[in-house]
Amino acid sequence: MRKPVIAGNWKMHKTISEGFKFIDDIKENVKDTDVEVMLFVPYTMLKSMKDYTDGTNIIIGAQNMHFEENGAYTGEISPLMLKDINVKNTLVGHSERREYFNETDETVNKKILKALEHDIDVILCVGEKLEERENNIEKDVVKKQIIKAFENVSAKMMNKIVIAYEPIWAIGTGKTASSEDANEMISFIRSEIQNLYDDEISEEIRILYGGSVKPTNVEELMNQDDIDGGLVGGASLKADQFIELVNF
Ligand code: PEP
Repeated sequence: MRKPVIAGNWKMHKTISEGFKFIDDIKENVKDTDVEVMLFVPYTMLKSMKDYTDGTNIIIGAQNMHFEENGAYTGEISPLMLKDINVKNTLVGHSERREYFNETDETVNKKILKALEHDIDVILCVGEKLEERENNIEKDVVKKQIIKAFENVSAKMMNKIVIAYEPIWAIGTGKTASSEDANEMISFIRSEIQNLYDDEISEEIRILYGGSVKPTNVEELMNQDDIDGGLVGGASLKADQFIELVNF
C-alpha cells in the first residue's frame, strides 16, 4: 500500500512570518492524516520553517539543490548546506527550473545522484509541453526524462524517490489533465520503472500528479489507481485549500 503524498510547492512566494502563520493555521488540521504532508519553500525560510515544524507531521523541503557540494556556483545551494539545517527533501527538475534556469535531463540526473549520496529524498518532476502532447509524443518525452534521470541510480536507492508527473501546460494555468489522462501517463511511468528496475519497485514507488490540483478536483484524481498524490503550486499557498487537499 503506497502512502499518499500532498506536497505544496510555494515557488517564490511568502515571507518567514507568512510561513509561520500558514503552519499555525494548518498544523492542527493535518495532524491526524494518513497522508504524507510536505511543503517545498523558498531557501530564505528553509531553516526557520524546518525548526518551526519540529514535532509536527509536516515535512519541509527545498525547491532545488546543486549537484556539487561546494564551489564557484554563485547563487546556488548545495546538499551539504541543506543537511546542515536538517533538510532532507528536495524537488529536482521542476519544469520552471528546466524552462527558466537551464535545467537539463543531465543536470537532473547529477542532482538526483548527489542528493541520494547525501541521504536527501527527491521528488523528481517530469512532464511534457503542450506542443509535445499535441504531436502525440508526450510518452516519448517523459520516457526520455525518466531514463536519463535514473541513470546509475541503484535499485536500493529507489525508496528515496517520488516522481511527480506534471504536464507543463497544466501548471499554473487552471487547466488540469483529465484524471484518466493523468492516470494513463502515471501508469506508463510505472511501467517504465518496471522496465528499468523490477515489479516490486514499480509497485512501491509513489507517483504524483501536478498541474492545477485544487480542492475541487483532488478527490477524483486521488481515486485513480496509479495516482498517489499531488504536487500543488497555487492551491498550496492558501491554508484553507491546503487543509482540504490533505484531507481529500
Ligand atoms: C507546481 O508548482 O508544481 C504546480 C503544479 O503548480 P499549480 O498547482 O499551480 O499548477
